[in-house]
Amino acid sequence: MFNDGRSRKVIFLAHCFLNQNAISDGTADYPTAHRPLVDFLLDHNISIFQMPCPEFIYLGLDRGNIHGAESPVTVENTRIRREMQKAESDRKLDSFADYVVSQAKEYIANGFEVLAIVGANRSPNCGVDTTSDDNEEIQGIGLFIDKLSNRFEESNISIPFIGLKAADDFSIKFNTIVSKD
Ligand code: SF4
Repeated sequence: MFNDGRSRKVIFLAHCFLNQNAISDGTADYPTAHRPLVDFLLDHNISIFQMPCPEFIYLGLDRGNIHGAESPVTVENTRIRREMQKAESDRKLDSFADYVVSQAKEYIANGFEVLAIVGANRSPNCGVDTTSDDNEEIQGIGLFIDKLSNRFEESNISIPFIGLKAADDFSIKFNTIVSKD
């Protein structure tokens, strides 16, 4: 099956790499998408699964603070983190994580490669290497990525997590993935 034109290689990206219009106020680096990243992945025949943006879904586009862009990013990120730690949003994060893992399982069950889960460093939700808390960027993991990581572990699925910032050299970050070409 699926011996058609497709590459059978998929990467899971944090929503905002493909849709900068969803990111919190004051933090977009591109008008629409992270075009160099998208070009890089498509050039390597890697298709893109866009994960949901938990902050947009739960807190809305302004994240519940119309003055968010006036605060330092890590201060606003810490406020967002606190909002997302409330019980109801925590349950939402569980359901978003279940959805993403179910999609990954479907690809894997059909012999596709899910090459990586790509999060956005510094984010209170999607950070992989760094996140925001106590008004600082700190070493650590975001709330959503933490849920995803636990779900994959419970499912005995091993997929690398890669954390990016817009200015990163992603050809280095994706070195191991690209070497599989
Ligand atoms: S980093 Fe995650 S939570 Fe933040 S805007 Fe991007 S997808 Fe949404």
